[in-house]
Amino acid sequence: MSELKIFTTVAETVAYAKEQKAAGRTIGLCPTMGALHEGHMTLMRAARSACDVVIASVFVNPVQFGPNEDYDKYPRQFDADCEKLAAEGVDAVFHPSPEEMYPAGYGTYITVENGITDVLCGARRPGHFRGVATVVTKLMNITRADKAFFGQKDAQQVAVVRRFVADLNLPVEVCMVPICREASGLARSSRNSYMSAEEKQAAVVLSRSLKAAKAAYEAGERDAEALKRITREELATEPLAKVDYVDLYTYPALQETTTVTEQSLLAIAVFIGKTRLIDNIILGEQA
Ligand code: AMP
Repeated sequence: MSELKIFTTVAETVAYAKEQKAAGRTIGLCPTMGALHEGHMTLMRAARSACDVVIASVFVNPVQFGPNEDYDKYPRQFDADCEKLAAEGVDAVFHPSPEEMYPAGYGTYITVENGITDVLCGARRPGHFRGVATVVTKLMNITRADKAFFGQKDAQQVAVVRRFVADLNLPVEVCMVPICREASGLARSSRNSYMSAEEKQAAVVLSRSLKAAKAAYEAGERDAEALKRITREELATEPLAKVDYVDLYTYPALQETTTVTEQSLLAIAVFIGKTRLIDNIILGEQA
């Protein structure tokens, strides 16, 4: 098992990254909020196979949580996270305090203003993507990343990151990793730990509903309303499920569409009890 370096300050992380770059090594960044699971590990493996050095970050970013969201109760288990990262051969983990990332006087934020943060989770979680864009920009700069790895689980996040990386000419390649699921189909998520066994079983309805829509798409259905209706109908079979949204947009532009003629994102957010879960599938060919 390789030695995992643990950094809590920006200065020591920058020094390490500079040293690696000076030695001609490429750096892969995997940003996370910790409570690591197998889904996160698929990111680490993708980074491990594409880059010489892998840096994970574990930081529950206060700026991306709304006032009534779960910032305080978000699971934190850094020691267990480090064991998992070491087992995957991750080279270093950056685990700063909120004060280290946002010291007194902090005042700079990144906002993507072309409409892609106005839909889906951006519409339901005001300020969320401003917080994500700000922290990811900082993490890319601190780690001098050549490539950064994100999960399709948060497909809107990937679209937002790709947008500001292009707009700000950041020298980073953004890589998207497929959704990692449990055998039941449930997308792995740190928030799954909030659910009881009964709720976890009910939560399988998310992936089941997307599967139903995908089957209809594969059978020739291209009408966006019909695909959303099929998804909703399947979700309605589960009494514990309360739909937040079922939406379909072109991907990654996230434009409205009535017919699936290009690559499109069918995305859902559903409450199972008090736990808000998201899932999605990408339909169609890349434009
Ligand atoms: P989080 O810790 O939830 O902020 O997630 C950190 C990164 O891991 C994000 O890029 C997520 O999209 C990714 N991720 C989380 N869950 C999964 C999953 N089930 N499959 C693939 N990637 C995931």
